[in-house]
Amino acid sequence: MLERNVETFIGCDASYDDARIVLFGAPFDSTTSFRPGTRFAPHAIRSESFGLETYSPWLDRDLEDISVFDSGDIELCIGSAEKALNQISERTSVILADGKIPFMIGGEHLVTLGAFREIFKKYPDVHIIHFDAHTDLRDDYLDVKLSHACVIRRCHDLTGDGRIHQFGIRSGERAEWRWARQGHTDLHPFNFDGLAETVKGLGNVPVYFTIDLDVMDPSVFPGTGTPEYGGVTFMQLLEAIKTVCDGCNIVGLDVNELCPPYDQTGASTAAACKIIRELLLSIKI
Ligand code: MN
Ligand code: MN
Repeated sequence: MLERNVETFIGCDASYDDARIVLFGAPFDSTTSFRPGTRFAPHAIRSESFGLETYSPWLDRDLEDISVFDSGDIELCIGSAEKALNQISERTSVILADGKIPFMIGGEHLVTLGAFREIFKKYPDVHIIHFDAHTDLRDDYLDVKLSHACVIRRCHDLTGDGRIHQFGIRSGERAEWRWARQGHTDLHPFNFDGLAETVKGLGNVPVYFTIDLDVMDPSVFPGTGTPEYGGVTFMQLLEAIKTVCDGCNIVGLDVNELCPPYDQTGASTAAACKIIRELLLSIKI
């Protein structure tokens, strides 16, 4: 008997029942402010992942030793951010109700809000660790509240002050930086200084981990819609991921803002795949 041809992220072919982590794609880029195309990322990542080994020499762990279910992409509506966010919330809520960890592949960064709304319902004391080049703290962007430039501000509407920890940030409006520095968020500019102390301070509280891949420098990760020079290296990001995953009680996570149309060599997609593999192998389950 032959099996159906269904493409998953490499090594993520456990049954749903066995899986502790459930992957899904959110191919959405309708609010992208500059160069669109992140909707193509989940498919590009799955396809490129077959260029990866399932074994990580850094961690001495293998995707074949863990159980991950890839539930595919959500068929998101076009033209309504609120409806798309609701669809993302629905998928997240099923995964959470079954006691599993949702791992979303964006898409633009706004998709985080759809997942986080459900996370916040289940874990009202949740904190966010946010890696990004951008603050994403605008209250609105061109009078629109649901934009990838506002996503962390919308999460703050839920959490309130002091529960969002931002790292690698090097861009944003002066007003956003001032607002963050008034104590609304815990903003660490430019790099991962202070990350180990932050993780230690969080102890066992639930953590949602959101990684905007443009936190990396465009010289190592050019395939993104809003490149910002002055970013971290791939290895610095991997180290930081390990710090977060080793120390935190992660209850959900996402990786977003890969933009395949701007990834002419495929190298940024390969970087995204390797980051996803390391995350899957690093989360405490
Ligand atoms: Mn972002
Ligand atoms: Mn960004």
